[in-house]
Amino acid sequence: MRPDKMILTAGPSISQKEIDYVMDAVKNGWNFNFSDYVEKFEDALSKYTGAKYALGTTNGTSGLHLSMRLFGVGPGDEVILPDMTYVACANVIEYMGAVPVFADIDSDTWCIDPEDIERKITKRTKAVMPVWMYGNAPDMDRIMAIARAHGLYVVEDSCPALGSFYQNRSAGSIGDTASFSLQGAKIVATGEGGAFVTSNPIFHDRAKSLYDHGRDFGRQFWVHEYGGYMYKMSNLHAALALAQLERVEEFVAKKRELFSWYTEGLNDVDCLVLNKPLPNTLSNMWMSSFVLKSNSPVTREALRAKLKERMIDTRPFFYPISMFPMYASRKFNNPNAYRVALNGINLPSGVERTEEEVVYICEQVKEILEAR
Ligand SMILES: *Cc1c(COP(=O)(O)O)cnc(C)c1O
Repeated sequence: MRPDKMILTAGPSISQKEIDYVMDAVKNGWNFNFSDYVEKFEDALSKYTGAKYALGTTNGTSGLHLSMRLFGVGPGDEVILPDMTYVACANVIEYMGAVPVFADIDSDTWCIDPEDIERKITKRTKAVMPVWMYGNAPDMDRIMAIARAHGLYVVEDSCPALGSFYQNRSAGSIGDTASFSLQGAKIVATGEGGAFVTSNPIFHDRAKSLYDHGRDFGRQFWVHEYGGYMYKMSNLHAALALAQLERVEEFVAKKRELFSWYTEGLNDVDCLVLNKPLPNTLSNMWMSSFVLKSNSPVTREALRAKLKERMIDTRPFFYPISMFPMYASRKFNNPNAYRVALNGINLPSGVERTEEEVVYICEQVKEILEAR
């Protein structure tokens, strides 16, 4: 095969269901029906994840920010998060005037290393933010045990992990709170969008007010002393979100199938390692990815450039956040995060990719890595 257009890393599948729900919302979602789809989406998400409560939000970042507010994270407090993650995670800590403390990651799962969380706990630590990196589960039992022993809150950044499980518990149902993202590249996609979930009724009630300007629902237009934000999902987005969520199992199956084809095609290449989730977990394989080992004959950038010439789009892993200019004055020693982040590549993983395309991609990767 010789592709005539770029094979993209991501992109949604939009069926008649999505179109029907959005059309219905745009025609009928007004006045007394203004939040019908929001409520349906929230119910469906709470059922799917097993978290007692779900709130549709404007994006994944807002759910993480709400969690910081709920935990009372403030100036001088520290929050521990993996060094390799999306910058949103550090930014929400900065919003509170608090200090992000970057921990190293596990080389296999690419998620935060629990032992390094323990090393980085101080008197000022208030919370931990494990991230379900590319859909892989962090070691949640170990992390919860450490957090409980030290009186820390846990917010799961489960943004990319709808459809992933840790020992039969859904992403987002294990920590005190969690956030999902429905951004256009995610497994369930609405362009921009997200959801906050929790099983704690106090956190839920407070979040429901905080994400709507701190409103007091007992008295119209009155607000609580704590103020708030405008982080509510729109009904139109919720219509799209509901249709996509109803298809999540189909998407997970497809992503996992893509990963099995990549595994078949690349398993015997000895200068790279593919996703390696923990046993007893199920990754939604949001992104089929690999990390180049030090014996790779080409750099990541050279490999990506060569793949692009062959019409294959890839993404570099997230940079270690501690590498950004704003953290230049602080020192962190996170060797796994730097090695993985600077040598990792996300492969085309959209749910519309085909076996033929994956076979082609694997052939090209091999050809580039095996030519000396
Ligand atoms: C996508 C993503 C986010 C942010 O989601 P937004 O909806 O863009 O705010 C945060 N963390 C991780 C790990 C993500 O993959």
